Amino acid sequence: MLKSKKLANLQKIEQDILNLKKSPLYTYRTKNNYVPVIGEGSLDADIVFIGEAPGKNEAISGKPFCGASGKVLNQLLEHISVTREDVYITNIVKDRPQDNRDPSREEINLYAPFLIQQLEIIQPKVIATLGRFSMEFIMRHLGLTEHVESISKIHGKKFSVQTSWVKVIFVPLYHPAVAVYNRKRLDELKEDFKKLIAIS
Ligand code: URA
Repeated sequence: MLKSKKLANLQKIEQDILNLKKSPLYTYRTKNNYVPVIGEGSLDADIVFIGEAPGKNEAISGKPFCGASGKVLNQLLEHISVTREDVYITNIVKDRPQDNRDPSREEINLYAPFLIQQLEIIQPKVIATLGRFSMEFIMRHLGLTEHVESISKIHGKKFSVQTSWVKVIFVPLYHPAVAVYNRKRLDELKEDFKKLIAIS
């Protein structure tokens, strides 16, 4: 797909989300002058990272992972000599849930079709989820339901899946937030990130 077509399709997604009045998060967004966080990075990225939902910093700036977890994510990317411009970073839920609560099933189901469209536009070779919410959704979506286990058991594992575009490698990863105050988790994330480079 041409880059201009990709951009136009992503802009359409942005418009649809901006007008998503049926979302339980719509009023919270507009009342607080927040913006949806669509995603950021290369439209030709080989690796797409999928987090959970924007926090306050993200909902103010419109950029994914720009708070404390974002600092960890930047550190992990740096560890494998990759920049944020090389990859595409997004979330499953595009609006901030109140007080950083976990996204609800209803919210995940409402926003997930936008994520699926984004994947179909970017067509990455590697899909890496950050945290259990995006992991569970993507595994079900890719037909890996029977492999769903706790993230502590399957983080860093590679799953090869045929999608409508190409063969994709799916890798579940811990959410960077778990490494903000936990050195062991940071080391585990660093090891898992190295695997992304080996396969992309
Ligand atoms: N946590 C997420 O899952 N996504 C963000 O964009 C920020 C924090």
